[in-house]
Amino acid sequence: MRRVCALCGRETDILIEGLCPDCYRKTHPLVRVKRDFVGIVRCPSCGAVLYRGRWVKDNKVIEKLILESLDYLGKVSSTSIESLELRYGLTTAIVRVRGTVHDLIKEYEEEAPVKVRYSEELCPRCRDMVNEKERAIVQVRSVVPINDHLRRLVIDITRKEAMRGEERSGFLRIDDVQGGLDIRLSDQGLARAIAYRIHKTLPSRVLESQSVVKGRGDKVITKLTISVVVVPVGRGSVIMYLNKPYYVLGYSQGTFRVLDLSSNETVNVRVGDLIRHGISIPKYEATCIEKGNTRALEVIIGSERYMINNAC
Ligand SMILES: [Zn+2]
Ligand SMILES: [Zn+2]
Repeated sequence: MRRVCALCGRETDILIEGLCPDCYRKTHPLVRVKRDFVGIVRCPSCGAVLYRGRWVKDNKVIEKLILESLDYLGKVSSTSIESLELRYGLTTAIVRVRGTVHDLIKEYEEEAPVKVRYSEELCPRCRDMVNEKERAIVQVRSVVPINDHLRRLVIDITRKEAMRGEERSGFLRIDDVQGGLDIRLSDQGLARAIAYRIHKTLPSRVLESQSVVKGRGDKVITKLTISVVVVPVGRGSVIMYLNKPYYVLGYSQGTFRVLDLSSNETVNVRVGDLIRHGISIPKYEATCIEKGNTRALEVIIGSERYMINNAC
């Protein structure tokens, strides 16, 4: 008897639910990916992987995590991960699944793309070991939200200073924290060098404090905390300070020279005052306008318009 597939119209010897084996396969996948992505968190120090809330030192765990994201909709005889690249962020792993969705169809292979989100994090054991060595922390905070440029600048300074020493062991790690970066070190001298370099590079205020971690008498172990608050603005910046707009003319030795845009007066403001009262960067437009022989910078903040002579 001649049978015809309901979907492709081909003649076929085997008909399953009205379909030829090819069309049946196409409409009945063998494997389904259950999750939007599989999160893989690995400790960069010891290689342990987070598995169901526990850190496991077994390379098969990564495979397990990926395979657990799959649902099999037929008989599966083998699975293998074809490609997997562990790099930060989202990647796709290809899983090859062998089996069949129906007894009348011979085994075949199907590929399932599994999205993997990879990240690294110190496991508690390694974190303890690092904390054990920690003797200093440089807390870099910014008065305005920290941007990529500032972040990179701080990381570059840290790297350069850490390389300057004979041994590079003084540096432990940098953590992103609310409002800035924490630089953790095992060397207090290096901490001071980094803080000093940041202070020389950016308008900032530096405060140091020591605390006793453990021990007494001659055997005390202290931890140095250096707070570096940066004011990442310079000549040409427009800032809001104490509810008034200012144009920054320059910075030198802890003092900003600023132009009060509402009164057109030039005043000096200490970096400490800016930190104490806080500043913000308003949304503004600046255009250079030429009038005869003179040029003026027009700054528009909201509905207000200010002119600054000789600024452009
Ligand atoms: Zn068909
Ligand atoms: Zn670890």
